[in-house]
Amino acid sequence: MKVKVSVDQDICTGCAVCYTEAPEVFEDNGDGLSQVKDELGGNGATLEGDLAEKASEVKDECPVEAIIVEELD
Ligand code: SF4
Repeated sequence: MKVKVSVDQDICTGCAVCYTEAPEVFEDNGDGLSQVKDELGGNGATLEGDLAEKASEVKDECPVEAIIVEELD
């Protein structure tokens, strides 16, 4: 599984669910909003394996559907 992951920061409310549930994928961007971790490539990063699965799981927990996960294969 390979996915492209990003957070729409125009929609994100900074509720912290994603970076509490999946701190290996998401982080606070410094302004109280979520982003894909810089060390993974930031928003729009391509993730594989466990990280891809975790991102897909947490996507469904975002209360405002701000997490975008695009399956690449
Ligand atoms: S769960 Fe959604 S609204 Fe909450 S911080 Fe993450 S992206 Fe933002």
